[in-house]
Amino acid sequence: MTTVNQLDLKNKKAIIRVDFNVPLNDAHQVTDNTRIVAAKPTIDAVLSAGGSCILMSHLGRPKGVTPELSLQHIISAVEEVLGHKVIFAQDSIGEDAQSKAAALKPGEILLLENLRFHAEETAGDEGFAKALASLADVYINDAFGTAHRAHVSTTIIAQYFDQNKAVGNLLEQEIIAIDKVLKTGEKPVLAILGGSKVSSKITIIENILDKVDHLIIGGGMAYTFVKAKGGKVGNSICEGDYLEYTLELLEKAKAKNVQIHLPVDVIATTDFSNDKERKTMNINEIEDGWEGLDAGPISLQNFENVVLESKTILWNGPLGVFEFSNFANGTIKLGTFIAQSTTAGAFSLVGGGDSVAAVKQFGFADKVSYVSTGGGAMLESLEGKILPGIAALKA
Ligand code: AMP
Repeated sequence: MTTVNQLDLKNKKAIIRVDFNVPLNDAHQVTDNTRIVAAKPTIDAVLSAGGSCILMSHLGRPKGVTPELSLQHIISAVEEVLGHKVIFAQDSIGEDAQSKAAALKPGEILLLENLRFHAEETAGDEGFAKALASLADVYINDAFGTAHRAHVSTTIIAQYFDQNKAVGNLLEQEIIAIDKVLKTGEKPVLAILGGSKVSSKITIIENILDKVDHLIIGGGMAYTFVKAKGGKVGNSICEGDYLEYTLELLEKAKAKNVQIHLPVDVIATTDFSNDKERKTMNINEIEDGWEGLDAGPISLQNFENVVLESKTILWNGPLGVFEFSNFANGTIKLGTFIAQSTTAGAFSLVGGGDSVAAVKQFGFADKVSYVSTGGGAMLESLEGKILPGIAALKA
């Protein structure tokens, strides 16, 4: 795959798929500019190589033109992050976009209106792809968050650029991080899977059993395993339809020499809330009327040992209901262990939804090796799928 710095960008117009799907408040102001900051290295690289940038993104899930979701609202936030003036085209294709793209000079930035104002974007329409492609000489995809979608701007457009297409810096970082865990990770390799349900992580577990030496299963997922093995889980979250399956998984893990680590104790309460009575219980003997919402102290001690021994660590999913302050301890402690192991030389990747929210909330984001920017895209990568947005850059 070609990278940005391998492209000839002098006097070239680069159309870049960025992920500017940022949160806006009621006054339509950007409340978190992380995704804009993440796109900056690629944009800077194009400008400093003598090119110009045509930025395209979606924002939200509009059905047709929706003024609240216009990318016009984010212009000032983009200008602030990039330290650069941004020209805006009222539509992603059509006369305004064409004339502004044609007039674009090296060093300039044009931002196109929300791609999803056209239903053709998500439908993968060839005509829309051709119209977007006609604006530029070079195509760069830097939107990991949508790389699992076969949309026009992430996939279909690439075919119009022959060799003149490249992977952006952010997307490249994500690919490198995933490969470091799934392909080239130094042993012992550890995956920590938490979150609420086994059913949503089945394909990931199946895929990573071939790649890891240790697997910690925590959070709500653990109770289905515990019940399947004959434990009493009280009112804890448990998927009755998956008992058989979890036993099969444990067998598979054994056959592949993967050590599975389940919690042995939990912090339980009588209601799914923050403020009811709490007790530490053996995970196999949770009393009727009680449910486990966090990992207990002996489990955390065990997990600490495994994390500190590991050289490659993947973390997806919290160890408890971290949204409730009284049940966030396990997730926070796990973050501390991973940070410690990272300082000692391990490579750590945090990816997929809630664990990313947790590392940010509890201040571990800069203490791990890499925090993924894509929820669904990261999960699909961990499932072993080739993302269409990445495949299109290789074709
Ligand atoms: P997921 O989206 O599957 O990664 O699950 C994340 C959610 O799992 C978070 O919102 C947590 O609150 C929830 N979770 C973690 N542990 C438990 C538990 N023991 N009981 C119920 N929900 C949990």
